[in-house]
Amino acid sequence: MIEKILEQIFPTTCGICGKLYKEPICNKCKAKIDKQIICKKQYKYLGNEFVKYIYLFKYKEILRKILLSYKFKEKIYLYEFFVKIILKNKKLYQFLEKYDIIIPVPIHSKKKKYRGYNQCELIAEKIAKNVEKLQYRDDVLIKIKNNLRQSSLKSEERKNNVKNVYMIKDLEKNKLEVQNKNILLFDDIYTTGNTVSECIRTLKKLNPKSIGVLTIFKD
Ligand SMILES: [Zn+2]
Repeated sequence: MIEKILEQIFPTTCGICGKLYKEPICNKCKAKIDKQIICKKQYKYLGNEFVKYIYLFKYKEILRKILLSYKFKEKIYLYEFFVKIILKNKKLYQFLEKYDIIIPVPIHSKKKKYRGYNQCELIAEKIAKNVEKLQYRDDVLIKIKNNLRQSSLKSEERKNNVKNVYMIKDLEKNKLEVQNKNILLFDDIYTTGNTVSECIRTLKKLNPKSIGVLTIFKD
């Protein structure tokens, strides 16, 4: 058990290929991942309006393996690797600088208790620490229904599955703090867009100046 904990804090093998290595990801795997950075910016129709959307990678091959690792296999330290990639990318960094607040897509408290963490919170918080005026807020948008996992459903069922599952916490207080600010919503992966759409729909209750979306992967 202690070994397992230590390995999570000080990993001794590459989190992707398993080769002995002093860092979480070996140089070979790093190079493979670097080659796949796209960093694409586009407009998307989400939450009943066009919003700016940016993502880093198409979700495939080696990246698919990583996401599943840090999400479900307790290789949580891998998230730091993506934070580094995000912050090092000039186009993405400039995008981040246009926002005042970064909000992670929340998970239900029961799920968080079970998993022990929400990887989106960890990533968004770390990003905010490294971008001067970007403020991290995980106390604005909350998830009030523990719905089925989107990936377990057919695409036509996904829209209904996320309907009304999010809520603004302390609406009046948060509205005063967030209105007229530029909000960046963060999720690790974009699939059908139903999750971010529903989050945007909910966030609009705060009357923000604008809402943008950042995800690491796009399916
Ligand atoms: Zn490796």
